[in-house]
This record gives sequence, C-alpha cells and structure tokens, in this order.
Amino acid sequence: MKHAAAATAVDMLIVGAGFAGLYMLHKARRMGLDALVVEAAPSVGGTWYHNRYPGARVDIQSMEYSFSFDETLQQEWKWSERYAPQAELLRYANHVADRFGLRDGIHLSTRIAGAHFDEAARRWTVRTESGQSWSARFLVMASGPLSSPNLPDFAGLKEFAGPVYHTADWPHEPVDFSGLRVGIVGTGSSAVQAIPQIAQQARELTVFQRTAAYAAPAHNGPLDQEFEARIKADYAGFRARNRRMHGGFGSALPPNPVSALAVSAEAREAAFEQRWKIGGFALLGAFNDLLLNEQSNALAAQFVRDKIRAIVKDPETARRLSPTHTIGCKRLCVDSGYYDTFNRPNVRLVDISRQPIERFTASGLQSGAGHFEFDALVLATGFDAMTGTLMRLDLRGRGGLPIKEKWHAGPLNYLGLTIAGFPNLFNIAGPGSTSAFTNVVVAIEQHVDWIADCIAHLDAHGLATVEATESAEAAWAEHVNAAARRTVFLSCNSWYLGANIPGKPRMFMPLAGGFPQYAERCAQVARNGYEGFVLA
Ligand code: NAP
Repeated sequence: MKHAAAATAVDMLIVGAGFAGLYMLHKARRMGLDALVVEAAPSVGGTWYHNRYPGARVDIQSMEYSFSFDETLQQEWKWSERYAPQAELLRYANHVADRFGLRDGIHLSTRIAGAHFDEAARRWTVRTESGQSWSARFLVMASGPLSSPNLPDFAGLKEFAGPVYHTADWPHEPVDFSGLRVGIVGTGSSAVQAIPQIAQQARELTVFQRTAAYAAPAHNGPLDQEFEARIKADYAGFRARNRRMHGGFGSALPPNPVSALAVSAEAREAAFEQRWKIGGFALLGAFNDLLLNEQSNALAAQFVRDKIRAIVKDPETARRLSPTHTIGCKRLCVDSGYYDTFNRPNVRLVDISRQPIERFTASGLQSGAGHFEFDALVLATGFDAMTGTLMRLDLRGRGGLPIKEKWHAGPLNYLGLTIAGFPNLFNIAGPGSTSAFTNVVVAIEQHVDWIADCIAHLDAHGLATVEATESAEAAWAEHVNAAARRTVFLSCNSWYLGANIPGKPRMFMPLAGGFPQYAERCAQVARNGYEGFVLA
C-alpha cells in the first residue's frame, strides 16, 4: 500500500455505518474528536441494508433491539411490530443518522482496501479501493460480525441459467418468484425466515437441507400498545435490567432458575409449553442448564422434535426436518410458520446431508439423490462470520504484520476489542466478546462506551497509544475457550466455530460467558488502569 502524502488527517476512522458505526461516530463527536465513517454500501444500516430477503426481521424484540443511549430517541421512536421487519430497522438506522446529524461524517459507497499502522507516526494509514486515503489516530472496525456472505464453491454454479440470489446480498428492486420453480440451499436463520414467504409466491419451492434447524415460533404481530407504554414509562430501568441478563435482553421473562433434570416430566413439559407459547428465545430459558448440560439439552431438543411431528403432516418430511444435534448449539432460529410451510403441496424437502450437492447444471442441481430442476436459486448459506471481513482486508499492524498471519490459526485478541500488534485499533462486536450471544445493540453500546472511555483515559494522561499485550491476549484466548467448554456449544458444526467455511481454522470465536460478567471484566480492566495493555 502506498502511504499517500495527501492522506487527510482525522482522529478516528470508523469502518462501517451499521448500528455500531453510527453510535461510534456520535460518541466520538460528542468527545470532540474529528471522526468519520467509511461505508462500502450506498446507505447506512449495515446488516439491515443488505439482508432484505423476504421475511427478514429481527429475532430479539424491537423494544429491546434498539439504542438506549438517548432517552428522547427511545421515547419518540415507535416500532410497529413485536419483531421489527428489515425495512423498519433500516428506517430506524436512517432516523438515527438524521436525528444526530451524522450524515456529513459518513462516506458512503466507499470501500476500504487496507489499513497499515505507521509505527513512526503512531497512526493508521487507511486507503480505499478508489485511492482515497486518511491518516487516523484511531481505527475502529465497526464492520459487523456477520457481514461477509459465504458463497460456497459449488461446482457448475456459473452454468445455472436462472438468477442466483444470496440472502445476505439481496437485490434492492423487488424479486418476483410468481410462477417460478425456486431452489433454496440452506436452512439457518435466514432460510427459516425466507422459506415461508417464498413458498407463498413460488409455483414450487425445493429446499436443500444439509442440517435440520431448530426453530421456535416468533408469534410476531403488532406491538402491544400497553406493553410499549409500560416499557416507555421506565425505559432506562428496563434497559438496566436487560443489561444484567446473560444475553442483554429478556428481563421481563428471566430464565427459570432450576435444572431441567430437577423437575417431574409433567412440570418440564408444562415449562417448555409455556415458553413455546411466549415464543422466540424464551424456550432456551425454560431451565437454567439447557445450554450447559447435554442431558437437559436433550429434553428441550425432544420437545421441539415432538412439535415438528405435530405440525408436519407427512411423517417422513417431519423426520427429515427433525434436528439431531444439541439445541441452541447453532443459533436457535425464530420463525413464522417455517415447519408448517412443509405441509404445502408446492414445497418439498431434499436432504443433502448424505447425498450432497454434486454440481449445478443449467436447469438445476445434481445431488446423489438425482437431478432437481428450478428456475431461480436462493443461497441462504450464511457468512464467513466474525473474522471474514477483517481477514479480507489488507490490514497490517506493527512491523507490517498482516492480520491474515496474526489470525492464521484463529482470532486472537484481548477483551474481544483490541489486538496485540495493532495499536489503537478497536473491533466492535467481534470474536472474543459476547456479542454473538448478546442482544447486539447492547453489545455495541458497551463496546463503544468502553472505547470512548479508553480514549479519554489516554488523552487525560497525555498518552498516544493503547495496545494489548501478547500475554493478556493469550490468557483471554484461554478464557474464551474455557467458557465454551462449560457449554454445549462445542458439540456441533456452527459458524461460532468457523465450521461452516471449508478450511477455516476451528476455534470457538465468541465468548459464551454472559454479557454482565464480560461487561464487568471490561470495566474492571479500565478501573485498574488498563491492565493487560501497554499505554504509551
Ligand atoms: P447459517 O446459520 O450459517 O446457515 C447457513 C445454512 O446454509 C445452513 O443450513 C448450512 O448448513 C447451509 N450451508 C452452508 N454451506 C453449505 C453448503 N456448502 N452446502 C449445503 N448447505 C450449506 O446462516 P444464516 O441463516 O444466514 O444465519 C447466520 C446468522 O445470522 C444467524 O445464526 C443469526 O445470528 C443471524 N441471523 C439472524 C436473523 C434473525 O432472525 N434476526 C436472521 C438471519 C440471520 P449447515 O448447518 O450444515 O452448515
């Protein structure tokens, strides 16, 4: 990378104008920093700009999945549904950008190519693909943990004659499947939301499933006005209670504080049933050990399999739709009519677990089970999660060390926020933090606030840089590992483990330790004068 002499100097360069980038910019400006955001898309909104497939909506309740940093913002914004749809979340991101006057600090349609740490200047030189460059004291990666779509290297995909859509890169003009035969590969959260919608429109829908999904009903609907009024009467209190929850949400319905093994079969069934009626992630809180103890987990898994058998009329389809792995090990899907969709005469399920896709052809795909024809293809194949976006950049720290080398065996960092050898670089909602298991807006606010406090500390002490030590980083990796070992999360192939991407090192990337403990640890590090860091 050329170190362009004409680089514009700023205090902070933020990559990404999703929720994280917007709040970071607002916070930095409030601190008096000269900050700007660089965003590849032509709009703010991040995830909610790109993931606009039919049925896309949030799986945490809207009243919780929103910013808490400004009381007027949270009072004035009105969500229409219990789980907001993508378009409304995108409007919210735009509203935040306008309401806080952020737009003049955001460079849209501008993609970062690389960033190098200049050791002499103790600054980051950041270059865009079009050749613009900035020199920034701080570099904040707000590029999102699920922002690099996974496009598997399917043989013959280019030969397929019809249109190919990826759920995470959906067209901005309406897609009309009316009268078409559609094939969809994948049955994760995106597919579980898209399948019921596409099935209503398409002439025929063929679902290619490698691993069956557990899905709990969203019971979505218009936002209950009385519930909204109750929350808004003490929004700050509601937020504070949520921050004390393991996942940063759900304080209105805390987990049942007993083991699934400690109650009678009838009581267990009743607890699962009650949570199933409430919907969403409530199910996983039916007992306090469902994600910790495989025996307890198996009981919840069986409860969902029984539900699938009750919903899906064809016993063979019900059997194939029934997952066999631990529930919650891959993120639980939250659905609106997913299993019932397989009762439609125009929907069929093809199991590709034992007879995988061999190749695509002009008119469909060939698997071990035969040739399947369709006119349009949807890939709901997920993301190169947590590390994909950083690893695709020419990001180099001290001594020109590329991030690709630093992370060749998996992501190493301290507190999930900082990387040894990459001074003054902060990563929001990335690996090593609880973001993947937390209401991500809560995670983002905590990260941004911590970064702001850290910078304020540097400035108050006349210091230029903050950098994690390698020993703190190694201890943190062990901490993340140990937390995973106490759970059921290592028992399946998930994106948490990097197992969805061929060749990606298997390392459990998010911290499963609970948001309150994590946030307290971050605060403690700060209180102790940033132990584990070199401040210079
Ligand atoms: P995902 O959970 O990784 O699911 C990808 C699907 O594609 C899986 O069924 C996977 O099968 C399949 N797949 C991947 N590569 C394949 C291949 N080569 N051949 C056949 N099948 C293949 O991705 P996602 O559904 O986009 O969701 C990712 C995450 O985004 C979620 O876990 C969640 O955190 C977030 N998300 C949230 C919502 C929401 O409700 N708000 C909606 C969408 C996404 P295997 O399971 O066998 O790998």
